[in-house]
Amino acid sequence: MYNKRSFALGSKRSVIREIFEYSKARKAEIGENKVFDFSLGNPSVSPPKEVTEAIIDLVENTEPTALHGYTSAQGDAGVRQKIADSIKRRFGVDMPASLIYMTCGAAASLTITLKALFDKGDECIIFAPFFTEYTVFIENAEGVPVISMPEPETFQIDISDFESRITERTKAVIINSPNNPSGVVYTEATVKRVCQILEKKSREIGHAIYLIADEPYRELVYGNVFVPYIMNYYKNSIVCYSYSKALSLPGERIGYIAVSPQAECADEVYLAVCGAGRSLGYVCAPSLFQQVAARCVDTRVNISAYAENRDLIYNGLKRLGFECVKPDGAFYLFVKSPDGDAFSFYERAKKHELLIVPCDDFGVTGYVRIAYCVSKETITGSLAGFEKVAKEYGLI
Ligand code: PLP
Repeated sequence: MYNKRSFALGSKRSVIREIFEYSKARKAEIGENKVFDFSLGNPSVSPPKEVTEAIIDLVENTEPTALHGYTSAQGDAGVRQKIADSIKRRFGVDMPASLIYMTCGAAASLTITLKALFDKGDECIIFAPFFTEYTVFIENAEGVPVISMPEPETFQIDISDFESRITERTKAVIINSPNNPSGVVYTEATVKRVCQILEKKSREIGHAIYLIADEPYRELVYGNVFVPYIMNYYKNSIVCYSYSKALSLPGERIGYIAVSPQAECADEVYLAVCGAGRSLGYVCAPSLFQQVAARCVDTRVNISAYAENRDLIYNGLKRLGFECVKPDGAFYLFVKSPDGDAFSFYERAKKHELLIVPCDDFGVTGYVRIAYCVSKETITGSLAGFEKVAKEYGLI
């Protein structure tokens, strides 16, 4: 027989997967450019040319057994040093390479970090709206997800709600900014308040509460919006970084965990990270892409196309009377269903070939997510359909 929990997880209906399948079938039926698919957070911008050049150069000029062989479990020492140096340059944190652990992207960074920290029944606070996989990752580490509801208008963290969720069992808090699905960047004042509360509560309950920053979207920020680097605000912090969106490499699975050098027992926490990675069978992060990441440590994808898409879709939907917060980062727009029902909004939009994601599973009911990492033509072509939906709802 099989494990019941794993079976339940594997057989649970995934709305995004269903939309993806529907999109493929519908495109085959009526034509690629007649379906406006906003369901997936798959980057639409190509990796920077530095990435392609690095791959070619590495493949052509490195001894293959070295390039494709196992690295040490925590990652190649030279790669980790380059990343540590970059953290120091960018954020002023005196980051030793010995606290960097290379991973297969943010999902692996999170599962490893949670497994490293959690004992059975430990609680992990997550801020709604949140990336739906958090509950899966936390439960896999035998933890308990505790949801903190946001400020309703801005989707910033509601500080008093957050404080009320902390108990003696709180082991960690995950912060994701820029946020999937809202696109909101938490302000520095918000981050400071969160950290002050965590310091106070850690003292009261007598153990560290870790702040985990899930940062796949750190580099996708529009205008001069500031994304605080948590190690500069809170000592017991861990950064779960990924190159999936920063370099448009989601299928290559590369990222890292950085344990703050200021964290209590930082070396022991790091060893727990190594142990968790080992027990989860990660062995090592992809060797070639560790080297690519090291060479492209200060390279970023060109986000101008995302910025243009954001303005087109945000302004377009606002003009039609839809309610949404202007995203400062990532490539998602979180839109309120005019009748408060996310699923009916999804169904109505689908009738006009608009594929959007109903988000009740993201911790806030009555919203849909529009992933605008698509071609400009998809956005401009979709607006006529959204206009029809707006008319049906009586918004215009
Ligand atoms: N965290 C958030 C908030 C995400 O949106 C995603 C992917 O979309 C991940 C983690 C996982 O990213 P990765 O591809 O680096 O594993």
